Amino acid sequence: MLHADAEIEFTTFKQLYIDIEEDHFDETKEKLVEAGLEVYSTGFFSKNLIACNFCRGVEEAGLTVAIKLNEIVAGHTVPSPLKVGYAGCANATSEPLFKDIGIIKMKNGFNIYVGGEGKSS
Ligand code: SF4
Repeated sequence: MLHADAEIEFTTFKQLYIDIEEDHFDETKEKLVEAGLEVYSTGFFSKNLIACNFCRGVEEAGLTVAIKLNEIVAGHTVPSPLKVGYAGCANATSEPLFKDIGIIKMKNGFNIYVGGEGKSS
């Protein structure tokens, strides 16, 4: 499916990073989208939502909200790469407090944290 020059990395947050020649980008993106995957650019863009495993279930962990959040936040041009993390409960196993913006579903709403991604100078 992918060109032989593609380098693929599977991250701990279930994302595939694919490094390919620019000439193959459009064709590769088309194939991935056809296969049901969402494709985002790397670099100075807001990343797709880095979410937990929703072990508490779709409703209790807020999967519907997370999907909507991803549609809103992912893929915007920003001055510096921006990561947004989501956790479906206060255990926060996806480490949203270490992202630029972290969202944690609580019993009666959401806690939002800003500025968690430390940058070395
Ligand atoms: S953050 Fe909570 S709901 Fe999400 S995987 Fe971790 S323990 Fe489960």
